[in-house]
Amino acid sequence: MTPFRVGIGNDIHRLAEGLPLFLGGVEIEHSSGADAHSDGDVILHATVDALLGAAGLGDIGELFPDDDPAYKDIASKVFVERALELLTERGYSLVNIDTIIMAQAPKLRPHKPAIRERMSELLQIPIEQVNVKAKTGERIGPIGNEKAIAAEVVVLIEKV
Ligand code: MG
Repeated sequence: MTPFRVGIGNDIHRLAEGLPLFLGGVEIEHSSGADAHSDGDVILHATVDALLGAAGLGDIGELFPDDDPAYKDIASKVFVERALELLTERGYSLVNIDTIIMAQAPKLRPHKPAIRERMSELLQIPIEQVNVKAKTGERIGPIGNEKAIAAEVVVLIEKV
């Protein structure tokens, strides 16, 4: 049996005027933010699903139901910390993570270093093992028309 397992996650949230926008645990200055039960951090939600998926532990909705008042407006780093704990309990550690944030606006290039650094802190792995990519929605569909923001994440975990 190989000690390695991969996991995939994605997430999408509606954008609404005047709400804060969190990406990778970093608050990004923007006119709109994710309309969600928690803080709507799409990249952290996708990360949790990728971690759980890699370990065969289901998905974020099973662990943190979005109709549970305990998770109203909660910082998504709590979900990440819990997912990491579950992996550690089962003898897994995170090897690396690759991510894509899909947003038409704001321009994410200036924010990528801060997001990468914060994710390396949250995930407790060196920054070289965290990659953050950004794409626009090519001005088509809900992402391209700034109605939604989304993220995709792949992780590799290793049995230690
Ligand atoms: Mg979500």
